[in-house]
Amino acid sequence: MEVTLLGTGTPTPSLKRMSSGYMVRIGDDTMIFDCGPGTYHRMMQAGVSATEVTHIFLSHLHYDHCLDYQRFVLTHWDQGVGKVPELKVYGPAPLARINQQLFDRDGVWGPDLSARTENELSIDVYRQRGGFPPRAWPDPQVTEIENGKVIEGRNWSLKVGSVVHVQPQLYCFGFRLESPEGVFVYSGDTGPCAGIEKLATGCDILASMCHYLTGTAPSEGFAAGCMGHMELAELGEKAEVQNLVISHVTTQIDQPGMRERVLREMATIYSGNLFFGEDLMTIPVGAPSPPILD
Ligand SMILES: [Zn+2]
Repeated sequence: MEVTLLGTGTPTPSLKRMSSGYMVRIGDDTMIFDCGPGTYHRMMQAGVSATEVTHIFLSHLHYDHCLDYQRFVLTHWDQGVGKVPELKVYGPAPLARINQQLFDRDGVWGPDLSARTENELSIDVYRQRGGFPPRAWPDPQVTEIENGKVIEGRNWSLKVGSVVHVQPQLYCFGFRLESPEGVFVYSGDTGPCAGIEKLATGCDILASMCHYLTGTAPSEGFAAGCMGHMELAELGEKAEVQNLVISHVTTQIDQPGMRERVLREMATIYSGNLFFGEDLMTIPVGAPSPPILD
């Protein structure tokens, strides 16, 4: 199992931190957990192409978690020339409707897809890439998820759990991925809640929202639906998380000296391995081991 951070930022534009996205590779499966703006670009920087992606899991439908979805689907289809399996996509309602609105004949990309599947020029390109006409439209296999759903893969299973963020306007979920190689948990966006604690219990890696400095929340509602750094430390300790990844980072804590303060304060409560997440960082499933001194 390999976990790569594709985006450790927020909706706030940043060249250093793309919006939310995580890539997990197990065997022949390449899974993308959320695909906020910039995450597709980071995946390419990690040396992975869209045709290698097999699964996309969306935690909630805030744009900083799903804006690159259309890019993943269109490029997977265009470069795959009918030779790679359709993407399997899981996310909360109304994902099925959004998918139709994007890719149906009368959808956002309908005119583009008509041209690419019917125009002679595009069919030439399709043949050059090794495709055999007639050309089918993209047809991502969308499944809407709910609390408690379990998705079974070849050698892994994924559990969906409700977390607390911006209900009732959006359904909000976290994910627990179990495989013989380890357990990866992604918080989605959440405040401290029983849902994320249950998902995270005993996991090898938890990649979590760490949105603000505890004590600076503008309201109680904000603190209920977003994770502060000390609440995250408490969660990591209580759930006995082995490797805790600070992500969904705002400029409030992404400052010289502040990053170190956050780590220092969290370490007074949390006794596992702490990672201040950066885009393209790869997180070890076991404890980090010192490389050879060079
Ligand atoms: Zn977010």
